[in-house]
Amino acid sequence: MDFPSRFDVIVIGGGHAGTEAALAAARMGVKTLLLSHNVETLGHMSCNPAIGGIGKSHLVKEIDALGGAMAQATDVAGIQFRVLNSRKGPAVRATRAQADRALYKAEIRRILENQPNLWIFQQSADDLIVEGEQVRGVVTQMGLKFCADNVVLTAGTFLGGLIHIGLKNYSGGRAGDPPSLALARRLRELSLRVGRLKTGTPPRIDGRSIDFSVMTEQAGDTPVPVMSFLGSREEHPQQVSCWITHTNARTHQIIAANLDRSPMYSGVIEGIGPRYCPSIEDKIHRFADKDSHQVFLEPEGLSTHEVYPNGISTSLPFDVQLEIVRSIRGLENAHIVRPGYAIEYDFFDPRDLKYSLETKVIGGLFFAGQINGTTGYEEAGAQGLLAGANAALRAQGREAWCPRRDEAYLGVLVDDLITLGTQEPYRMFTSRAEYRLILREDNADLRLTEQGRELGLVDDARWAAFCAKREGIEREEQRLKTTWVRPGTPQGEALATRFGSPLAREYNLLNLLARPEVDYASLVELTGGGAEDEQVAEQVEIKTKYAGYIDRQQDEIARLRASESVRLPENLDYASISGLSKEIQHKLGQARPQTLGQASRIPGVTPAAISLLLIHLKKRD
Ligand code: FAD
Repeated sequence: MDFPSRFDVIVIGGGHAGTEAALAAARMGVKTLLLSHNVETLGHMSCNPAIGGIGKSHLVKEIDALGGAMAQATDVAGIQFRVLNSRKGPAVRATRAQADRALYKAEIRRILENQPNLWIFQQSADDLIVEGEQVRGVVTQMGLKFCADNVVLTAGTFLGGLIHIGLKNYSGGRAGDPPSLALARRLRELSLRVGRLKTGTPPRIDGRSIDFSVMTEQAGDTPVPVMSFLGSREEHPQQVSCWITHTNARTHQIIAANLDRSPMYSGVIEGIGPRYCPSIEDKIHRFADKDSHQVFLEPEGLSTHEVYPNGISTSLPFDVQLEIVRSIRGLENAHIVRPGYAIEYDFFDPRDLKYSLETKVIGGLFFAGQINGTTGYEEAGAQGLLAGANAALRAQGREAWCPRRDEAYLGVLVDDLITLGTQEPYRMFTSRAEYRLILREDNADLRLTEQGRELGLVDDARWAAFCAKREGIEREEQRLKTTWVRPGTPQGEALATRFGSPLAREYNLLNLLARPEVDYASLVELTGGGAEDEQVAEQVEIKTKYAGYIDRQQDEIARLRASESVRLPENLDYASISGLSKEIQHKLGQARPQTLGQASRIPGVTPAAISLLLIHLKKRD
């Protein structure tokens, strides 16, 4: 057969994990195949058309810092941008963009189709070729064999997917797409722990049937934020508003009266749903004392009337969905275009993965995205990039790349998953990271782009822009450090008046910027000079203002790192370590942590147990 059938890396699934995985592997120069059910659905957003938000934007910017596509596609497709938590500290600030679903998908496809070393093929992967404990390739639905010693599986909600609307259910990968049943059966034959999770989506509404005049308008921010470090406002399409309305006592009565027809409350759904993205029936049940919940009406795009009502995800029967929607102010005459539904799917216990996202049981088989128990495009994309990069590194005979918790949210995500596992869909929050002040969204490039360049993920254009920014920051810091202002001079007086405090002596501008009442924009307005690049100005300001806290966090990291990275042998016999309780021996034996740091994060593993492990390792040496 002429068609190439041998690859270095095969990626199964063209969702958010799969596209980043395939792009990462191909950027690193290895011959890569992206195999997905349908080329038309590459990069499709299964649920709400939005990228970013708290904790999630940190992942998007990390993907971007490593050369990935998500942030770039968001800049091209974003129809409303906001910075959440903008009044709080920089550690928790988060950019969120409402995306035009069609533009987003088109941009992802454009990037994929123009990526050298990447082949795209439309077919379902129905089987894996496994020899002993090593993956060798994939067999498709029509019997084609593709060979590769590195396979990244990113099948999302499709494995054994079961769609529920009321008490009716049918097999599906998501509404309108087939499930992946043959592959799900095959995977259940491998010795990996499998479970079921559930997620849901709201009905979609025709915007022409909505009375926006009774709702609160929510416009985007001005100046309009940008998602990618290489992005610009000029790339954004037309910007639009979202609208806010609320559920009410009548809505809640309808739901309460129909809970017996809910697949979740009648026991039909076994899988556990996302805690932080609950269905409306879940909210009514769990927060019974609240008589109203917010509903955000988010446009699905510029070329469609469809509107996404964020906050009323439901799997109640369709007649109840209609009643719920029409009980809400402004939606009295709403026409539903697509019913809401829930989906149950197979996921694999992420504790069976290594830091590289390679499975512990089958060499060369990597898992990324929703199948690892996460929820969200951003969590999926970040894992995809990591798995794709590590599959490529393995193909090149190089060491795996495993970012640490103090380097990236990506490190936090993977460490949480593989150390703790998950009983419910895992989503990222800034509160999951212990070094929040260092892992900010604004400095993802400064944390990761250099590593990305060494790995081969970052192209020349991004590298040049990054180097220019880094030099710009150094230059501006130097300028501020060597520019002095004296009391009594016109500049000194202007500063004293603006900031309400006279200068006691001569100061350099960096000292002044460190003061809480002084901001960078005013400082350069009154003293001249200043960085033209907004990103440079932002970095100089944050680094200066938070220098004390940042230094303290860096010291803490340095201290911890010494013991954190001590490796634990794979065959370590925990039962033979005297002093460890039976319970801790069992937990460690089950989890088989790769490092002392990972062991310390297993619930129930005490600092005393970590000291015993350290002593044991020293004795072995
Ligand atoms: P997906 O985006 O699902 O992509 C999987 C891809 O793999 C698809 O392209 C599929 O065609 C392909 N594929 C599957 N099996 C095969 C095969 N055997 N061969 C070839 N190709 C295959 N996230 C939230 O954060 N909040 C929510 O509220 C939320 N609600 C959701 C509601 C629903 C109904 C659904 C379906 C998803 C929801 N999500 C939600 C999850 C979000 O869509 C996922 O987290 C994200 O899409 C996961 O990305 P992924 O790449 O892992 O998988």
